[in-house]
Amino acid sequence: MKRWSLGLGMLLLVLGMILPLATASANTSPSSIQLMLEGEILHPDVPPNLIQGRTLVPIRVVAEGLGAEVGWDERLRKVTIQSDSVTISMQIGLKKATINGKEIAMDVPPMIDRGRTLVPLRFVGESLGITVGWEQETRSVILNQPISLLANGTNLPAAKVYRIGQEVYLPLKEISPFLGATFQTSGQKDLLLFEGLNTDLAQSGKKLWKLKKLDAGWLVPLTVVEQDFAAKVLVHNNEVSIEKIKQVNVLEALKEENGRIILQTSTSQTQLQHFLMESPHRLVIDLPNTVIGESIRETVGFTAGMGVIRKANPVTVLGVTAEDTENGEQLEVPIDDAALIEQQPEISQPKPEEELIKEIRFSQFSVEPQTVRVVVELSQKVKYDIVAAGEAWEVSLEPIPKKEGFLIVIDAGHGGKDPGAKGVSGNWEKDLTLTLSKLLKEELSQYKGIHVLETRTDDTYPTLQERVQLANTIQADLFLSIHANSVKDKPTVRGTETFYNTPQSESFAKLVHAYLVEATKFPNRGTKKGELYVLKHTTMPSALVEIGFLSNAQDNTQMLDPLFQARVAQALGRAINEYYTSYQ
Ligand code: ZN
Repeated sequence: MKRWSLGLGMLLLVLGMILPLATASANTSPSSIQLMLEGEILHPDVPPNLIQGRTLVPIRVVAEGLGAEVGWDERLRKVTIQSDSVTISMQIGLKKATINGKEIAMDVPPMIDRGRTLVPLRFVGESLGITVGWEQETRSVILNQPISLLANGTNLPAAKVYRIGQEVYLPLKEISPFLGATFQTSGQKDLLLFEGLNTDLAQSGKKLWKLKKLDAGWLVPLTVVEQDFAAKVLVHNNEVSIEKIKQVNVLEALKEENGRIILQTSTSQTQLQHFLMESPHRLVIDLPNTVIGESIRETVGFTAGMGVIRKANPVTVLGVTAEDTENGEQLEVPIDDAALIEQQPEISQPKPEEELIKEIRFSQFSVEPQTVRVVVELSQKVKYDIVAAGEAWEVSLEPIPKKEGFLIVIDAGHGGKDPGAKGVSGNWEKDLTLTLSKLLKEELSQYKGIHVLETRTDDTYPTLQERVQLANTIQADLFLSIHANSVKDKPTVRGTETFYNTPQSESFAKLVHAYLVEATKFPNRGTKKGELYVLKHTTMPSALVEIGFLSNAQDNTQMLDPLFQARVAQALGRAINEYYTSYQ
């Protein structure tokens, strides 16, 4: 029972959906369709018919309205419509037409109804090059000669422009990018994002901008484009051109306040672009669509297209700045005061109290598009933050402290009661790791600024916890653990591999491995993430190298060779130095 009643309900629902459509397609009531040509409502003697969703009109309407010549061959039941350049011929009841001799399919064929010959209006209109649109709301067919559309100098050939009444309507979707608006379709909704407002076109957009919908596209009146979207509009015969008056942002003030830099602009809508550059360190801020304001030109020294808020290291000569000497006067410096003369910045060492901001300058970086560039020259590497405060931007800077030296903990694996793996020659891993650790320390002594601490210097066994604790407590910059590999019953397995665990360690491990594998010339087993205690618990970048396999005769013999050991130590030293250098 239950199933049956559900079935009936479904049937009724389906019928309910079909019926209105059936009514619409059967509706040939002449009063229901309006024709508009070039903005004027047509009142043909014989009103149009809607058949299968298409408007059919008596051929007389075509002749009178569209200015085409119409011919009728009674014997062949053939209609001919001819304009200057297009000839359409159709046969009653046939869905095939020919346009300039070329066969084209139609949705609805021409037909005879109560003694009148009816032709499909859109098909004929569009074939004749006329712009045709259907407005469901008023049940109107809109027809006009094509109007070309130019937006900010760009021709939009696919855009359909309509004349409806006294107004010209432009396709919103096509022109929105030129109006600084964004057209979006989200699900069933068409939205327009303009000046921060996301408007549902079917709802408020229709009221707000008097939009119309023809076929499936939204149209906006030209007067609205001019007024609400602030575009310059030009109509000439069958040509419309729109040009968006760009609202240019103006840099009105630029100043330094308590170590912060304030950029004052005329609008808050600018999206800044900013990045850091090196040698010398500087922060670059670009303001797109922006010009340098008159007020800032007047208040700031602005010469040769460049404004400077703060000059880098003015050379002070007895309290007189170097600029003051530019009028040609030679300043004589008494010999006793020579020591007071500050050295040229190029040859002076950075003073400890050197100010972070050396110079702030700005210029019109480009004219098309208009971009103002502000450059903040800095005495060292910084972190920075830019926040919007109304129509101003506040830039804060924080120095990244320079490192005085670099501390690495070298960890010789195993030791004492823990000999590690046994080599095929009867040698032990703990001895090899200690040898390499000592060689590496020696190797690193040649690099200025690199300091070394070893977890062990003899045959003792610090626990893994102790090794980690040492590195973490002294806040080492790097941790490198040296080991050699071994695999049971697989004497052919050989090669070099490097492990890391924490995210801060990957780049260090890869760098070390690249140097190491080049030195050992063993098969490259790669850099791997491993769950090793000393790697997991060290807070600084850390890596563990497995030089080669003690269980492989070839690897083992090599690893016992002092020349090989020296080469490995040198490679590890170079890797550490490169890491240190790039870290600075
Ligand atoms: Zn080991």
